[in-house]
Parts: sequence; C-alpha cells; structure tokens
Amino acid sequence: MHTFRPAEFEYHRPTSLDEALTLLGEIEDSRPLAGGHSLLPMMKLRLAIPTALVDLSRIPGLDEISASNGGLAIGALATHAEVAGSEVAIGIAPVIPETAARIGDLQVRNCGTFGGSVAHADPGADYPTLLKALGGAITATGKGGEREIAADDFFRGIFETALEPGELVTSVKVPGTPAGTGASYLKHRHPASGYTVVGIAAVVKVEGGNCTAARVTVGGVTSPPVHATAAEEALVGGPGSEDAIAAAAEKVPEAIPSAMGDAYASGEYRTHLAKVLAARALREAFDRAA
Ligand code: FAD
Repeated sequence: MHTFRPAEFEYHRPTSLDEALTLLGEIEDSRPLAGGHSLLPMMKLRLAIPTALVDLSRIPGLDEISASNGGLAIGALATHAEVAGSEVAIGIAPVIPETAARIGDLQVRNCGTFGGSVAHADPGADYPTLLKALGGAITATGKGGEREIAADDFFRGIFETALEPGELVTSVKVPGTPAGTGASYLKHRHPASGYTVVGIAAVVKVEGGNCTAARVTVGGVTSPPVHATAAEEALVGGPGSEDAIAAAAEKVPEAIPSAMGDAYASGEYRTHLAKVLAARALREAFDRAA
C-alpha cells in the first residue's frame, strides 16, 4: 500500500555555497532542496529517492534580484512572490514579475523559487518558455567554478537540463525590455493545479513602425519549449498589423508537430490553444512596444 511518505533521507543545511557544493559532491544521490514544492511531492510518491537533501535556504545572497548590464540578475533562491513584487524587475523586464505573479497559488509563490523551477524543467512550468523568448541565460556553479548557459541550450527535455551532476543554478540573467521592445507571456492554466497547459511568450522589437526582431516560444506542448520559427520569421519586416499577427499565429503549429496530450487536454486542443494564445500574446507585445 502507498503511504505517501518519503523514504528515509539525511538533511543538511549548509550556510555557504561552497559547503553546499561540497556536500552535493560528496554524498552520492543527494539533491539540492529549494522551495520543495516539486521535490517533496516527488519524494512522497517515491518518484525521487534522494539519500540526502541539501537545503539551500540558509545560503546568504542567493535570493538577490538586481540590475545587471541593462538587464536583470535573479538569484536562484528568489521566490516567485519576491520576483512578482520586485521593483527592480518591474522596472527592467515587467513580463517576468507579471509571469511570477500568475504561478500556482499563494503558497506555491511564497515557497517556490526561480532557480528551483528552472532546474526542475517541468513541461508545465512558465519560466523556461519565457526565458527562451527573452534570450535569458542560466548561471550554473560547480566546484570547478561558474558557467553561463543560454536558455536555448539549457532546457533539454522533460525534467532534463544541461546542468552537470553537482552543479547548482545560482542565478539567471535576463535582458531588459526597453522602449521599442514589447513582451508578453500568456498561458492556459490547468484549473486544478494552476500549472500551464499551454504557455506562449512573445517578444517583439519595433523600429520605424516595423518589426525588426520577433521571438515566439511555445511551452507545455512539447518539452523543452520551442521557438515557433516560421511565425517569428513571418513577423520581421512588417508592421505587426492584425493580419500579420493572424498569419504568424497560423504558423505556430508548424513548430509543434507532435503536441503532447493527456487526460485534460489532447495534443490537438493544445495546438489550437497555442494558436489562439500566440495571436493574443503577439497583440499585447506589439501594443507594449508601441
Ligand atoms: P524544489 O522542489 O525544491 O526542487 C525542484 C528540483 O530542482 C529538485 O530536483 C531540486 O533538487 C532541484 N533544485 C532546486 N533548486 C536548485 C538549484 N538552485 N540548482 C539546482 N537544482 C535545484 N510552476 C510554474 O511554473 N507555473 C505554475 O503555474 C505552477 N503551478 C504549481 C502549482 C502547484 C500546486 C505546485 C505544487 C507547483 C506549481 N508550480 C508551478 C511549480 C513551482 O513553481 C515550483 O516551485 C517549482 O517547480 C520548483 O521550485 P522549488 O523552489 O519548489 O524547487
């Protein structure tokens, strides 16, 4: 009979990054613990059976959100609620706090962290889709030092990233969205959990009345999220008119030929949602760029 209790594990609460990396390196099958909102349910279901948890919550400085080269640096331990309420983030890339504010429910936003979500790479997560559209980069830190991985290379599949064993996500860098650039993230929420069934991020740059760069990414339909390249290409050079947006949205399904389906939403329904949300997200992005 299933008890919904995790298997036995050790618990460590390091007070420095170096100590955390040492523990993760030395204890076989240990896992970092951030907000615990994905890891603990998996442990209760015995989908994850770590020998030890290395709790990151007492490491100072990992929750900072700061301006960095015209963009944002978001510490891995910043909670969704902290990101949602960050004045710095609202000033530099408002689509990020807007997205954070729509994650799950209050409890999830108060505990779940930016870095935990990125490292977990759940197909129903919001940040991976958004980070790919914004051109973000993940800072991974291991015993050997730091490396930066573009979001386009970081997310590899369902719960699969470019992180090496023993490496931690320590921060995420995101370019700002200055005047002339508009960004939008829209999602269809699962009515029970709030997780994303389909999420669309759109980022456009408008100069002299015409679109000079466009990024449209689709999440929840494939894993990892993908660029709707044909839609992106169709927008560049045009004014972002209703017709142009409708034509671009029609091209989104080309990026998701094998859309995932489940008991709640078939692949066909997800593909339909992706088209509808892409048109709305693009409209909002162009309006914001104006
Ligand atoms: P944890 O659960 O602590 O860890 C998750 C995984 O990442 C573990 O494998 C852990 O070892 C690893 N990890 C954690 N931090 C790091 C790090 N810094 N470096 C390397 N590895 C690390 N998410 C959304 O995006 N949108 C939603 O709408 C949404 N709705 C939700 C609704 C519910 C009811 C729940 C329970 C969760 C929901 N989530 C949603 C997920 C939520 O955002 C989680 O917070 C997130 O997936 C994991 O973050 P965490 O800090 O809780 O990580």
